[in-house]
Amino acid sequence: MNPAHETAHDPAHETAGGAAGTTADAFHRVYGTHADGVWAAPGRVNLIGEHTDYNDGFALPMALPQATRVAARRRGDGRLRLHSDRFDAGVVELEVAALAPGAVPGWARYPAGVVWALAEAGHPVGGGADLHVDSTVPTGAGLSSSAALECAVAVAFDELYGLGLTRPELARTAQRAENAFAGVPCGIMDQMASLCCTEGAALFLDSRTLGHHRVPFDLAGHGLRLLVIDTRVQHDLADGAYAGLRAGCERAAALLGLTALRDLPAEELPAALTALPAELAPLVRHVVTENARVTEAVDRLSAGNPAALGPLLTAGHASLRDDYRVSCPETDLAVDTAVAAGALGARMTGGGFGGSVIALTPEDRADRVAAAVTAAFAAAGYGPPALLTATPSAGAGRLAG
Ligand code: ADP
Ligand code: MG
Repeated sequence: MNPAHETAHDPAHETAGGAAGTTADAFHRVYGTHADGVWAAPGRVNLIGEHTDYNDGFALPMALPQATRVAARRRGDGRLRLHSDRFDAGVVELEVAALAPGAVPGWARYPAGVVWALAEAGHPVGGGADLHVDSTVPTGAGLSSSAALECAVAVAFDELYGLGLTRPELARTAQRAENAFAGVPCGIMDQMASLCCTEGAALFLDSRTLGHHRVPFDLAGHGLRLLVIDTRVQHDLADGAYAGLRAGCERAAALLGLTALRDLPAEELPAALTALPAELAPLVRHVVTENARVTEAVDRLSAGNPAALGPLLTAGHASLRDDYRVSCPETDLAVDTAVAAGALGARMTGGGFGGSVIALTPEDRADRVAAAVTAAFAAAGYGPPALLTATPSAGAGRLAG
């Protein structure tokens, strides 16, 4: 089944029809003409499987109800006009034929990058378009607002120009936009999550093949809540550190004679750890154990036991903190406090050095967990965290209305 058809008329999107109308109205105010349609793509949290995607490994993200909407109108003259209500500095005017990596600064490089990547791959999008963007995904919170923006633009162009691309093809295009055009070396998980997730489920992702399937995740039916705690900090070393970690993993794989760390079987991990330089061994330990945690999480969810995810989350956090070293005092405090206050498990989600923490809690303890984290942040002198409740939501698609 083509997931594009699976999600195009998703009821979760239809309930957002009002939002689609608002976005279409805003488009009309900006451009003085009607949009051809409104498309949306969600932010995500990753339940488990962090820093595994660029190691060809596994991940288990789910889409958030928070989404980025793009109202769009096809043009025929090669111009690309971009407007976002979040960066309200007017309309950015570009020419599709003149798009090149490094040529577009600021937020516009994400949507322009998608158009560039489509054109570069030979797709006939040279006519251009007018786009208006609004969003309920917080930016820079580790909830992947960048992928939500790219993926909303990708599904809009796919339909405006009748490209008929598959979801994995659109994900690769969006990733290329972020890597080669926007200059951010992200993996593929964020884009696959935004494009392929389905309501009521997490998404098992094999980052090597882009094989994926839904894993039912019924929080409410099991009396559970998934809290997202946005620490509202993003430490500066995030970008450089990410590239360094990625390079470290590639070097370790090469030293082990592997294509990627995904290819190291768990039973060969002890021998590999003794053979590797001291600075690389903990990275490899994280990746191999994290892939195993994803597989185990899928088994536990498939067995109808979402509460059993808790200890895997907390173990994943310890691995990111101690082996991968991408946590920070704020995320560690949120995790420790949430678990001490009764969460079944908690971990940082996203690339690290700040961003958000997820905490799986029984519904009747969720408020206590949230209050404890807020109090702990105040006591530590940190700014207040932002709290969201995550419900597994639909992937990208066209909005009704
Ligand atoms: P994250 O993806 O974790 O939210 P990133 O730093 O990867 O953080 O991406 C955030 C950037 O994506 C913003 O600084 C902006 O350039 C762009 N962006 C995201 N959402 C929007 C939006 N609604 N309008 C304009 N730009 C956006
Ligand atoms: Mg991002």
